[in-house]
Amino acid sequence: MKLEKIFNQKDELIGYAFYCPGCKSYHSSIIKPFANEKGASWTFNGNLESPTFHPSILSRVAFTANKKPPKVCHLFVVNGRLQFLSDCTHELAGQTIDMEDL
Ligand SMILES: [Zn+2]
Repeated sequence: MKLEKIFNQKDELIGYAFYCPGCKSYHSSIIKPFANEKGASWTFNGNLESPTFHPSILSRVAFTANKKPPKVCHLFVVNGRLQFLSDCTHELAGQTIDMEDL
């Protein structure tokens, strides 16, 4: 299994989380018709072993306490693979890798 299910307080399935080896943490995709706190949502191909989400997933962590540049992770999830875009600030920028089992 490449995904972990996310439920809301009404026990409705609203999305999935997956592990990102670039960030060494989890990202989540909230699937339509639900949306995350920023109003974003994704389509999902329904395949837990070979997931595809659309559009891309962008995670940006800003540091306000110091002058460090923001951490960016920007990727596509396509057929069970993570396609990291070149604007990622971690070492996997520009690479495509298989998703890890949880
Ligand atoms: Zn990431």
